[in-house]
Amino acid sequence: MKLFKSFPKIDSHFHSTFYNPVYEKIAKEYNIKLININTNANVFPSMKVQETIALEYILKNKKHFSFIASFEMDGWENEGWYEKTFARINNSMEKGAVGVKIWKNIGMEIIKSLDKSYLMIDDTFFDPLFKYLSENRIPLLAHLGEPKNCWLPLHEMTSKRNRMYYTNNPEFHAYLHPDIPHYELQIQARDNVLAKFPSLVFVGAHLGSLEWSYEELALRFDKYPNFKVDLSSRLGHLQLQSKNRYDDIRDFFIKYSDRILYGTDAYDNPEKLTSSLFNDWKFLSTNQNCESTEISSRFKGIELPEESLYKIYYENSTKVYHNLSH
Ligand SMILES: [Zn+2]
Repeated sequence: MKLFKSFPKIDSHFHSTFYNPVYEKIAKEYNIKLININTNANVFPSMKVQETIALEYILKNKKHFSFIASFEMDGWENEGWYEKTFARINNSMEKGAVGVKIWKNIGMEIIKSLDKSYLMIDDTFFDPLFKYLSENRIPLLAHLGEPKNCWLPLHEMTSKRNRMYYTNNPEFHAYLHPDIPHYELQIQARDNVLAKFPSLVFVGAHLGSLEWSYEELALRFDKYPNFKVDLSSRLGHLQLQSKNRYDDIRDFFIKYSDRILYGTDAYDNPEKLTSSLFNDWKFLSTNQNCESTEISSRFKGIELPEESLYKIYYENSTKVYHNLSH
């Protein structure tokens, strides 16, 4: 554990929606760079506020802060939406964004006025966006779909964290809203994009919503060379799988260590940030007994080699988000 604080780290999935100086202290103390993810969700402040805050952190400390921009889907069916959106993305990139994020409102919330069906990510409407991002070498961070648990009743969910989230946010609990396209359709739509735009650098947030099966993830890694994922908010699902398939999970992390980006998803919560940093490190880098608020029993750390840790915690992020200044 002695390396923990000095080991170079990037939290590729962090949220802070108001300026809090404590993050600068944490970032320096833990030798970590925090990538603030702007998100087009109504539970977040406006996109303008999020970007202003993200830039405030960077202005104060460029070494430890960066951000991923986003854009509003409002008015997407109106003429001129793309012009406006490309100008917006371009502006954010000029200000220092290292990528662009899209959210689960695509596939689970936005309805087409034409036939009242859900707008899916593989709709040809998005082709110009993916073309633009590929041509301009802008990485895409995509939170699409939800954990598989979202389509199950609360008592069947495999993670306490998911159960708590859908108890508190029933509007996102797809099991209660059968009109929302099913889990498999969300994954299929995303895979269609990966197949159609192979040169797009694509990071699936939250283990690409394939958190329940490292084998399903491995299949996509083999099939889509530009597909990466971040660990944010979903490491517990892999810890759960490691209880019965310890060696397989460890091998998975080693084999695909150039495809996995570390991230906490800490959201305006410095305590969660530091406890995640500590607990995740313990699981990934030691062979000690670990526990988590997410699953009931204990599990053993997978003690990854330093080379894999370096890729997951640091190097992959610098390669994917190539505009990150070091
Ligand atoms: Zn997030």
